[in-house]
Amino acid sequence: MSIAQQIAKIQLELTPYASKLIVVTKTRSIDELLSVHTCGTLDFGENRVQEMVEKQAQLPQDIRWHQIGHLQTNKVKYIAPFVHLIHSVDSWSLLAEINKQAAKNNRVIPCLLQMYIAQEDTKFGLDKQEAIDILQNPALTQLENIQIVGLMGMASFTSDTDQIRQEFKLLKGLFEHFKSQQTGVGSGRVAWNEISMGMSGDYLLAAQEGSTMVRVGSAIFGPRA
Ligand SMILES: *Cc1c(COP(=O)(O)O)cnc(C)c1O
Repeated sequence: MSIAQQIAKIQLELTPYASKLIVVTKTRSIDELLSVHTCGTLDFGENRVQEMVEKQAQLPQDIRWHQIGHLQTNKVKYIAPFVHLIHSVDSWSLLAEINKQAAKNNRVIPCLLQMYIAQEDTKFGLDKQEAIDILQNPALTQLENIQIVGLMGMASFTSDTDQIRQEFKLLKGLFEHFKSQQTGVGSGRVAWNEISMGMSGDYLLAAQEGSTMVRVGSAIFGPRA
């Protein structure tokens, strides 16, 4: 199947759900990204800053760029002028730096807190208490150039779909807890809208479990080299 056919298939599968497709374009060529753009799909996810910056400069300006991979503080400045949503905020210091660089660019950058939900010790992310510490930090109200709009998580790398489903339920449960408690909302910097979960192997499961954004790469382009 072509890229366009794969995207059409996934969009159709997602139709019953409130989950939006983010096409993960890391390692893919400019021509492949142009094929995606031609389909009218405008949300692109990258995990390396340098690659995102290089591609952004060469591609149509209506593309919405999502930073989905671990973000180093010293690289925020390169994406701050244009990034649409940062999915991978995992520390207060990173959030403060995003705020600083967003202010320099006269904009507000939407962010997700990346939560640790997998049963592996290889993935980045916050536990519940660490997220609460950020959301209830009195200084959050002063970060006027960021907005925390939800949570992101990555399930374990396993074929055990029961385990993956449990991990998605954990993230959804955390989200519903924060939303019902209005955690952080009083700061004026938090709105509980988005749950970014689901990748090529588990996007349908994630959509069923309440994801609002799935991040899909290899199911569209084939395996990465
Ligand atoms: C690479 C990546 C994805 C997409 O992975 P696929 O298996 O190719 O769909 C999703 N999320 C993050 C954070 C990634 O780094």
